[in-house]
Amino acid sequence: ERFKEGLTKTRTSFSDRVNDLVFRYRKVDEDFFEELEEILISADVGVNTVMELIDELKDEVRRRNIQDTREVRSVISEKLVEIYQGEDEASPQLNVEDGRLNVILFVGVNGVGKTTTIGKLAHKFKNEGKSVMLAAGDTFRAGAIEQLEVWGNRVGADVIKQSAGSDPAAVMFDAIQAAKARKADVLLCDTAGRLQNKVNLMKELEKVKKVIERELPGAPHEVLLVLDATTGQNAMSQAKQFSSATEVSGIVLTKLDGTAKGGIVLAIRNELEIPVKLVGLGEKMDDLQEFIAEQYVYGLFA
Ligand code: GDP
Repeated sequence: ERFKEGLTKTRTSFSDRVNDLVFRYRKVDEDFFEELEEILISADVGVNTVMELIDELKDEVRRRNIQDTREVRSVISEKLVEIYQGEDEASPQLNVEDGRLNVILFVGVNGVGKTTTIGKLAHKFKNEGKSVMLAAGDTFRAGAIEQLEVWGNRVGADVIKQSAGSDPAAVMFDAIQAAKARKADVLLCDTAGRLQNKVNLMKELEKVKKVIERELPGAPHEVLLVLDATTGQNAMSQAKQFSSATEVSGIVLTKLDGTAKGGIVLAIRNELEIPVKLVGLGEKMDDLQEFIAEQYVYGLFA
């Protein structure tokens, strides 16, 4: 249900166009596939992914001797799920276990929804009865620490911080010590996302990660890259940059409610081979969902 609502924009543009196509063509031919290709590309599914999908559709149509375009429609959703899931068994679930301190590091450029996602996820964990702490590792952007504190107060999570401009690695050191001492279940770590100096940013992230690794063997248990779905191919290039600089274990795709180009989920998964673990479907506390491919594709066509 939440997927259905959150994907309204993508759904109306995407499935309305597919339905219109099915209605106009009735019989499957080369022109039909060409128009379908266009629709998928304009939904940001990504050129390579679209090519792969169209090839597989054509094969399937030939194999099953499908002639009616209405039947192709259901094959499309089957194939979308298959392509999304890929060949590996990358778990869509967050690597969070009971009985240990779980550390999740959030990376991504300013404005993508990193702080909001941390707040929403903290809320979700609190609802599950876990004790949650936040680390204010973005010491660079004015207001970032205060914004995290607002979320901390709202959801009931302690925030470990230092003054603006201080060393983020030192904040992480403090945060891990505090989380251990207070026996927290989850520590969610914010980081800076300034893009003015990419090299320094990536170095800073490495340093932050090293401190976490040193202070808590096995941590960070997740490094989540937050991307704004409304930025389309820009999000793709951010994903490439971050994942080449640091090991990203999963992606959070925010603002899916604000775009008609929700196909970006497929492009990211298929072309970068990083699982999308969470999606943001709005600005409210509850507007964060675990990503489940079947539900997502169903949301596109429902
Ligand atoms: P940060 O700079 O990455 O920490 O970004 P923020 O968390 O401050 O978010 C930037 C803006 O995006 C804020 O206005 C958020 O309310 C908004 N935002 C974050 N996630 C979502 C989402 O899933 N949907 C919508 N519509 N807005 C979101």
